[in-house]
Amino acid sequence: MILGCIADDFTGATDLANTLTRRGMHTVQTIGIPKGAAPQADAVVVALKSRTIPVADAVTQSVAACRWLKANGARQIFFKYCSTFDSTDAGNIGPVADALLDELGSGFTIACPAFPENGRTIYLGHLFVGGDLLSDSSMKNHPLTPMRDANLVRVLGRQSKHKVGLVPYRTVKQGAPAIAEAYAALQAEGIRHAIVDALEDRDLEHIGAASSALPLITGGSGVAVGLPQNYRTARLIPKREGASPLDKVGGPGVVLSGSCSAATLGQVERFAAKHPSQAIDPQGLASDPEKTVAALLAWATEQLKKGPALIYASAPPEKVAAVQAAFGREKAGAMIEHAIARLASALAAERVRRFVIAGGETSGAVVSALKVEALEIGPQIAPGVPACLSYGNPRYALALKSGNFGGPDFFVEALEALP
Ligand code: ADP
Repeated sequence: MILGCIADDFTGATDLANTLTRRGMHTVQTIGIPKGAAPQADAVVVALKSRTIPVADAVTQSVAACRWLKANGARQIFFKYCSTFDSTDAGNIGPVADALLDELGSGFTIACPAFPENGRTIYLGHLFVGGDLLSDSSMKNHPLTPMRDANLVRVLGRQSKHKVGLVPYRTVKQGAPAIAEAYAALQAEGIRHAIVDALEDRDLEHIGAASSALPLITGGSGVAVGLPQNYRTARLIPKREGASPLDKVGGPGVVLSGSCSAATLGQVERFAAKHPSQAIDPQGLASDPEKTVAALLAWATEQLKKGPALIYASAPPEKVAAVQAAFGREKAGAMIEHAIARLASALAAERVRRFVIAGGETSGAVVSALKVEALEIGPQIAPGVPACLSYGNPRYALALKSGNFGGPDFFVEALEALP
């Protein structure tokens, strides 16, 4: 193992594994810290579900993952979070990054969530989603991590006990040596975290090259774009093509969506217009979970005999707000995730093996319910979303989609792409 990665959610982990695979690193994603031997791979991405758990738990789990990765040979550690910097003032990005720096005995790291291919760019420390500041994007209404400040120096400053600085675009565009000099200058000022501006993949390649000696890198999957080349230059990995096709799984395919992100809402609408679909009623779930899940299962079982089907909790912001007002933000989220996870395992018991899951937290809940331990990464379906195949028996074909990823027809594309 050369690169050891810790991802704060499952779809984020797949996104990063996808980037590394496409850039020629043989990558395996594990669900949590593996109990057995480390997989044979250039990069291992340990997927945690630590984005919205209490800070202390996120720190403990991330440090444990870091120790396991180092013990299994990782030369560099990558802490992956969302390209929209999903977090609250309590964390978990800042506290986890602080703890990983301490664990690695390092005094400096970068924070770069840029993902230009998906419209996430950073200029003067401000994160943009497409043409909007993060704080004007749909992320301002996220059910668990509403993002209402686009200035990442400020956002991370509120989460970390250390000073946060900036490597501005005028430096980044000068290339790797200038960026590395900026790191040294910031470190000399006592700054431990630097937000790094990036507008396009070329910038990320420069940032990657400048970061080859950092024990810890933090960011979105985009900043990993530049890392495989470092390892090729150092002759640690051979030249390789991207992903290989996955073994065939076959059988019916179901879409389960717990994401309320704008892109998902569009995908649900588009899919539901032409395919059988059923909404999950949070009220029904709260009053009689057994009956509600059983009814959805009976419906899905019948539909899947004829073709693909969608079950979704996805709802627009005003409906989500009403559900949260009734049950509390976390309780509502957990209740829905739990229901979708139960549906997934009940469908698996009926031999459904192909799942498209929308939502990071939702994917985490489903993958845990299916007792998946590790994923092989296949060809890309949409930027940030590869087709995956679980190891073990049975093997599941999975597309784990982070909320705002994928075009309007993503669900159909994913069902076609899954083996
Ligand atoms: P995304 O990737 O879009 O952020 P996630 O699955 O990570 O999606 O998060 C969405 C959260 O919203 C989950 O906890 C999910 O259970 C919750 N949720 C889904 N539908 C609703 C709803 N109708 N009302 C309230 N919360 C919901």
